[in-house]
Amino acid sequence: MKIKNVELVISAMKKDQYPDDGLPEVAFVGRSNVGKSSSINTLLGRKSLARVSQNPGKTRTINFYKINNEFYFVDLPGYGYAKMSKDSRKEWGRVMEEYFQNSKDLKHIFLLVDIRHEPKEDDVMMHSYAVHYNIPVTVIATKSDKISRGAYQKAFSVIRKKLNYTGEKVMPISALKKTGTDEIWSHIINIFEN
Ligand code: GDP
Repeated sequence: MKIKNVELVISAMKKDQYPDDGLPEVAFVGRSNVGKSSSINTLLGRKSLARVSQNPGKTRTINFYKINNEFYFVDLPGYGYAKMSKDSRKEWGRVMEEYFQNSKDLKHIFLLVDIRHEPKEDDVMMHSYAVHYNIPVTVIATKSDKISRGAYQKAFSVIRKKLNYTGEKVMPISALKKTGTDEIWSHIINIFEN
């Protein structure tokens, strides 16, 4: 995918701020620190477009990145940050629910989990949530440089089992090594073409 143009159109707090140009969206979700910002930056070939978290659990906005004037990457707020206050948890829930209930252009969700670990309960909930809203999900396994290639299949099956994920593939990505992006891009192009 040739990225000619990326524009952060808005960091939205509520639905009337969402773009309404009808362009299709794919969204990215995951626990704080899973490598979501790094993965988005890597997919877009940009160094520091999406904020790499200095203040995990703080961002409660939905960032809409317009790519090549053709579609959006939607960066949803991370979850599962241990020190998140009750109020911010509630706010996170509100922001997410509002998006899922109003996102008529959302085509697909990428759920990011760390390749090294069994997904946590909040990942399981996030996955069920997407299934409940009837939005197709693909799981991306981040930080794939942290394990050997030979260990991928085992890691994928641990992830699948915990999430009850029946999608075709778990897709590895390493923001550090910049690997895995071609396969994910082919998948994204496929999503928009169907
Ligand atoms: P976010 O909170 O999900 O947006 O996560 P970040 O992108 O801010 O990354 C969290 C931490 O994981 C940072 O210290 C990153 O440098 C590190 N990280 C992210 N992606 C990778 C990766 O592919 N490989 C390795 N080894 N570290 C990564």
